Amino acid sequence: MTRIAFIGLGNMGGPMAGNLAGAGHAVVGFDLASESCAAAAASGVVIAENARAAVEGAEIVITMLPAGRHVRAVWSEIIPVLAPGSLLIDCSTIDVENARAVHALAAAAGLSALDAPVSGGVGGAKAATLTFMVGGTEAAFAAGQPVLAAMGKRIVHCGAAGAGQAAKICNNMILGISMIAVCEAFVLAEKLGLSHQALFDVASTSSGQCWSLTSYCPVPGPVPASPANNAYRPGFAAALMLKDLRLSQEAAGAAGAATPLGATATELYARFAEHAADTDFSGIIAMLRDSGAANAP
Ligand code: NAD
Repeated sequence: MTRIAFIGLGNMGGPMAGNLAGAGHAVVGFDLASESCAAAAASGVVIAENARAAVEGAEIVITMLPAGRHVRAVWSEIIPVLAPGSLLIDCSTIDVENARAVHALAAAAGLSALDAPVSGGVGGAKAATLTFMVGGTEAAFAAGQPVLAAMGKRIVHCGAAGAGQAAKICNNMILGISMIAVCEAFVLAEKLGLSHQALFDVASTSSGQCWSLTSYCPVPGPVPASPANNAYRPGFAAALMLKDLRLSQEAAGAAGAATPLGATATELYARFAEHAADTDFSGIIAMLRDSGAANAP
């Protein structure tokens, strides 16, 4: 049993903390939202008055917060009260620069740290089947791995500080671009009189094959579990896809990497999220269909 503090008990953090409690760890949590605290308490998490109180006596502290500024603020607040030898793990999706900055805050206080963003969404958080992409030292990874294993099924050590966030951002840039590519192919097929099923049957077993097509098909029918069959309810909301694409573009700008398709995908998702932020990201097919006239000669 490990004494774990969990800060940020929202859609993802709540079920993740509940799984840690369910695995027999002593979990003390905190969230600014009282309804998130109440839901976590119902799954065995002891709720503290504030973040500092939550981390008292903790061997491992996990944060699952909206963005880099929240992580930086919370880590700055709790690091002074952490016992020597404790490990901080941030599972939020944040920018690489802030991820490295909070690693440095921990190192300056003699504490170890990991960035460990996830994929798998709320379903994966509830089912403890998340994939963790982890950045940090070998020693910190070895210390954090057993606790991450109680919340996920795949834990990949990607490299040094920030490497987990880098992997997450690169992966999701592929996802955003490939979803748009698959949607465009279905829109073109419709104009050419080719059925959705025929395109799926060919492309899913040919060189056009990719996850956006075979696991998350953006038209109803070929993949019954995809959000297209459920009125594009998320799934993975367009707002979250846009967040990750923007992080990829920030990182590309800072690192001097050319990502022209990543930039275009970011623009398209920004337009889509203006009026459909809560729709599943595969719903962008409707916007692409509607903007067909713009491509006409
Ligand atoms: P959420 O908004 O449901 O939860 C975030 C929680 O953090 C909220 O409950 C909020 O009250 C709390 N919070 C904010 N500032 C705080 C502070 N200073 N102290 C304590 N609590 C604070 O978001 P989520 O969907 O759980 O996502 C969390 C992170 O996981 C984000 O970085 C997101 O990008 C990432 N992520 C989400 C998904 C998904 O499908 N939802 C998938 C992968 C990664």
